[in-house]
Amino acid sequence: MCTACGRRQAVYHRKYSGERLCLQCLLESLHHKVRRAIARYQLLTPESNVLAVVRSGVTVDELGMSLLLEVERDFPKVKISFLTIVDDERPVNCLYLKTALLEATRRGIGKVVLPLTAEETVANNLLWISRRGGCLFLRGRLLYPDPPDGLDVVLPLYDVLGWELAAAFQQETTRSSPMLDLVFSLEDEFPGSTYNMLRSMERLADARGGIL
Ligand SMILES: [Zn+2]
Repeated sequence: MCTACGRRQAVYHRKYSGERLCLQCLLESLHHKVRRAIARYQLLTPESNVLAVVRSGVTVDELGMSLLLEVERDFPKVKISFLTIVDDERPVNCLYLKTALLEATRRGIGKVVLPLTAEETVANNLLWISRRGGCLFLRGRLLYPDPPDGLDVVLPLYDVLGWELAAAFQQETTRSSPMLDLVFSLEDEFPGSTYNMLRSMERLADARGGIL
């Protein structure tokens, strides 16, 4: 039985919290995580004009975008344009980001939305730490490389686990890069580790002198 509503059959075991959730409550919880991240990190305003970027053929991007559009119904004044990029490389490569930024500038849009999940954000950041290259995302935003003036790159799915996103849409998750595999494996073995890594990176970035 679902531990949230106590009415429907549970279909998902959220190991890091011990909850067992039905499909509706899982989806509702993900909506809540997106709304909370948008508010907490001030990612979108009610009248934002955004360019939403989806990697073609990357299922989790498509699911993430569906989730965002469901949440966006609460903000009917947000104007969304879409850009599909052919790039199945995961984690994100900077070339893809550069294309998105150029396209946003060309269309006169100040905000780029990437549907990156928590695992992908951590995988990107681990890669950035490992080789001091690529992209660093913190608190739902691109931090490095500095986006060009007037452009903001935001991750409304920053607190959503791709694993849960797939479960909510009854899809399989695909593992497609060594770094992402590592993050998934750690989450399997130590439930909650993805969020722990995300928060540790935030704390390191805040430490005196800026460790990251
Ligand atoms: Zn329920």
